[in-house]
Amino acid sequence: MREGSLEAPTRHPLAWKNPEFWDQAKAEKELERIFDICHGCRRCVSLCTTFPTLFDLVDASSTMEVDGVKKEDYWKVVDQCYLCDLCYMTKCPYVPPHPWNVDFPHVMLRAKAIKFKKGIKFRDRLLSSTDALGKLAAIPVVAQTVNALNRNALSRSALQATLGVHKERELPPYAPRPFRSKAEKSRDFPVRDGKNAPGKVAIFATCYANYNEPAMAHDLLAILEHNEIPYVLVEQEVCCGMPKLELGDLEGVEALWKKNIPVLAKYAASGYAILAPVPSCALMFKQELPLMYPDDADTAAVRDAMFDPFEYFVLRRKDGLLKSDFKQALGKVSYHIPCHSRVQNMGQKTREILEAIPGTELTTVERCSGHDGTWGVKTEYFDNSMKIGRPVFRMMAEPQPAYISSDCPIAARHILQGMGEDAGEAVKAHPLSLLRKAYGL
Ligand code: SF4
Ligand code: SF4
Repeated sequence: MREGSLEAPTRHPLAWKNPEFWDQAKAEKELERIFDICHGCRRCVSLCTTFPTLFDLVDASSTMEVDGVKKEDYWKVVDQCYLCDLCYMTKCPYVPPHPWNVDFPHVMLRAKAIKFKKGIKFRDRLLSSTDALGKLAAIPVVAQTVNALNRNALSRSALQATLGVHKERELPPYAPRPFRSKAEKSRDFPVRDGKNAPGKVAIFATCYANYNEPAMAHDLLAILEHNEIPYVLVEQEVCCGMPKLELGDLEGVEALWKKNIPVLAKYAASGYAILAPVPSCALMFKQELPLMYPDDADTAAVRDAMFDPFEYFVLRRKDGLLKSDFKQALGKVSYHIPCHSRVQNMGQKTREILEAIPGTELTTVERCSGHDGTWGVKTEYFDNSMKIGRPVFRMMAEPQPAYISSDCPIAARHILQGMGEDAGEAVKAHPLSLLRKAYGL
């Protein structure tokens, strides 16, 4: 058999509607098969703490092979995986169509789903309910109270003791008004479709931009307006489902899918480009939901209409329909490409746009920062999350930048925290905020 596949990687749909998917003994057999291949390969050892956990278990076992690892210890490996997909996308030569059919993240997801069915901590259920939490905190007095409590050492210790949210993790603030309630209406520009991208945009705001950092979504609107691209906010939206997917709550994902897809499919059918300013949410519609619902035409239509904002800008520039009348240099920018942007397989689009701004010196870091959505917030994973991020913190600090930026606003916050004093005067700014600044808007 050939070492590694020469074909382009493919991905099999997630067979979660098949009763066998939920059979724990069968899942453990598949885990054992894949763990055994990984033990013989060990290429992914530096990616995250999942693989070192597995290899330590193997090395400490009586046989020094996977068959010596107790099945109950498999779950220690599963708990370390935050489903960033990097092992699948960037390292593994045995992914389909290779006959070994190694899809490490998907076998982790299957195990997480089985574990979820058995019951999970209240903390995990709460943290994955981004929409409900956001709605609650969007009540003005509540937002201020939650933000004040998040900055208070005593209440953070209590939060750690009761909910397992690490007391040192810097949590994002809640905005006093959600983005969707304050968004400016688009001006009535004519629609100019290009060869590569549609000329009108529907915004899927995302929970994070809506409730935590609305500025980045307002910046997106200002950039569209400057480029005379008409936009609408999607009529109604709920969480994309990524936090629930990461927990293995597939039925929770389905409930959200049922609400979002019919709405978004209408925009796709009417020729809109749908833009989501958070990479994990765009990825959910581009990859995860289509793998969960491979035969659903609406899910496929939404996948094809979904763009990362900078992917869209690059296509508009190709069409000769993006302005380059930049007025302000940005100076030194340390820019981080998050895993969920890399996994979208679109190339380094944000980098292309930021590099085109005169007077901008970009240092690009393409490596996992180790936070993930809610994983790095939890007490038991906080230290590992800081450890995984350490090389990124160092590389981002090295040029003594004016700005720290990442397409993932949660990663940017984590990186700034990890840089500590090395951050110097650097300011955190989302790439959309940087682009708006460069346009002088
Ligand atoms: S999906 Fe990401 S976190 Fe999980 S094993 Fe692969 S690289 Fe590690
Ligand atoms: S996921 Fe693939 S590349 Fe990574 S250790 Fe396993 S077999 Fe090797």
